This record gives sequence, C-alpha cells and structure tokens, in this order.
Amino acid sequence: MKQQILYTIYDIFDQWNSDIDKACNRGCSGCCTQNVTITAVEGEAILRYILAEGMSLWLAEKLASPRTHQAPQMTTNDFASICLEGKDNDPGDHYNLAVCPFLEKDLCKIYPVRPFGCRLFISKKTCSAVHPALVSDSYFEAATAVTQLIEHLGQKEYWGNMLDVLPALLDISEFREIADHLSTTLIMQARMQTLTAKPLPGFLLSEEHTDEVSPLLHSIFAAEVKGKKVEDILNGK
Ligand code: SF4
Repeated sequence: MKQQILYTIYDIFDQWNSDIDKACNRGCSGCCTQNVTITAVEGEAILRYILAEGMSLWLAEKLASPRTHQAPQMTTNDFASICLEGKDNDPGDHYNLAVCPFLEKDLCKIYPVRPFGCRLFISKKTCSAVHPALVSDSYFEAATAVTQLIEHLGQKEYWGNMLDVLPALLDISEFREIADHLSTTLIMQARMQTLTAKPLPGFLLSEEHTDEVSPLLHSIFAAEVKGKKVEDILNGK
C-alpha cells in the first residue's frame, strides 16, 4: 500500500511540474551527488527493482565501495518542526559533491525507481557542480512539501542518506540475496548512520506561495489508492 501511495505521489508531482520549461536532458547528471536522502518506503522500492533486474551483486559492490558521504543530522520534518516553533535551526552541513555511485556513463542505473530526492532536481538553466540549479521559490516550496509528505508516509522507519538506508533495510528477508554479498559490519554501521522518519509537523510553506502549491497538495490528498483517499491513509484512518 505505501509503495502504491509513493508512486501516486511521484506521478502527481511529475504531472504538476510537466509545464515547467526544464533544461534537464538525458545524460546531464550534475545533480547526481551522494547527498540524496530517502525514506524506507523509497529504499524498499529500489531494492525490489534491484532484485527484479538481477542487479544484487552490482548493488552490493556499490554499497561496499569506499564511503565518502555524510549522514544528515536531522530529517526534513525535524527541521520543519523546529522552524515552525520559531526556533533557530541549523540542519548541519552534510553536503558532499562526490558522484552518486549509481551513475554510470552519465546515466542513472536505477532511474525508474530513483527516489524523490532525485526527481525533484530540475533546473530552468543548464547546471553543473559550480552552477547551481535554477528553480522558482514556489517550485522549491512545493518540492519541500512533497518531501515532507513522503517522510510522513515512512514515519517511524529508517530515514537518511540513500547509501545508508539501502544497507539498513537488508535485514528484511525479501532482500537476503543482496545482504548475502555484504558484511554484517557494513550493514550495522550503515544502520547506525540513519535517523527515524517523523510525522508531518506542518508544511514549510510561505503565505506568498500557498496558492501555487495548494493545488498540488490537494491533488495528492484527493488521489485514491485501493479505494481509499490518500489523505485518509496519511491521517491513519
Ligand atoms: S540515484 Fe540516480 S538520479 Fe539519483 S543521484 Fe544517483 S544516479 Fe542520480
């Protein structure tokens, strides 16, 4: 059920931003760094894809390669919670420009199941490591709101850097075939780097952009999965 909700959210977000004139093209990969954070729901979707595509050994080798990424110190909803309380907030510096290990010949090897942290990266101008992506403030706020919803969907489960959450999930028996290629120590170390996804404390949405972002959020809430409204599922009804 959670995975279907996730894909529904991805689809609605793609539709919502389809009118934006993007500079992004197949093969441009300036945004493919080791800074991607994911929830367990997204991680499980990636691991199922890896199994279906017969890529278990490939993934294990990627996850076992030298680790240069840094673990974030708080989740997006932790950050939102502190901001909404009006307190000073420093999410910590975990930015790392090292290339994502899933990028090969400038193409993403897990593209169909890439997480939202990758999907939200668009730019109106060609970007690179030294020329940051250009998006509107309303787009940035919309992408942040959807990131918060996806964390809410995965609440109480692993949240963190993709390169930690994926190994952390390998204790699920379904993914044994991948775990068998990795050491228990690596899996344990990765798990210790993860945080726990939190429920939505409220959106980090400015009054100025609420009118532009609200239709997107309403579309997500009104969507139905297995005959139930996504809003009701997210509210635990
Ligand atoms: S998972 Fe794919 S899209 Fe995301 S950063 Fe890595 S290579 Fe790029």
